Amino acid sequence: RCGFVAVVGRPNVGKSTLTNALIGTKISIVSRKAQTTRHRIHGVLTRENEQFVFVDTPGFQTRHGGAMNRMMNRVVTQALADVDVVVHVVEAGKWSAGDAQLLPLLPKDGNTILVVNKIDALKNKNDMFSYVSKIMAQFPYSAVVPVSALRGVQLEELLNEIAARL
Ligand code: GDP
Ligand code: MG
Repeated sequence: RCGFVAVVGRPNVGKSTLTNALIGTKISIVSRKAQTTRHRIHGVLTRENEQFVFVDTPGFQTRHGGAMNRMMNRVVTQALADVDVVVHVVEAGKWSAGDAQLLPLLPKDGNTILVVNKIDALKNKNDMFSYVSKIMAQFPYSAVVPVSALRGVQLEELLNEIAARL
């Protein structure tokens, strides 16, 4: 199985750290200029039965209002519809307006995974349940995976959830 995976989320939630951690040392970087029609290829992870192609989607811009914003949202929405799995990264305990702004753009087709990153920095692990419940009430994610990209916690679980959707 082989598929395209987009890692999205507001700035600073750990998207780059996570993508690099997932690709890891088994990195097989394709040319920096490698492109598909809609995506720039960031890296490829090959496992025994799967190949994951991580792609950049167009940046999410919120400062423009009106027609400009609608047009850019359409570009992002179409780009996300073109991948097999969308990984929406948020920060444990720190839900903000920037996270909520992405929700209308995420595919509701059962292939969007919520990743709660930075669990190593969470002071009270019991807060996790109410935090996740609040988010799940706003969007029909098909899976939730708490991870620490920095410490490499639960990355295998995340790859398995992605693989199940390829
Ligand atoms: P991006 O803007 O979403 O790509 O976020 P980055 O990957 O650049 O990370 C933003 C900051 O969060 C950096 O200082 C990272 O070191 C930090 N960070 C990323 N993942 C984790 C994590 O799992 N735990 C902690 N404590 N910090 C993290
Ligand atoms: Mg980044």
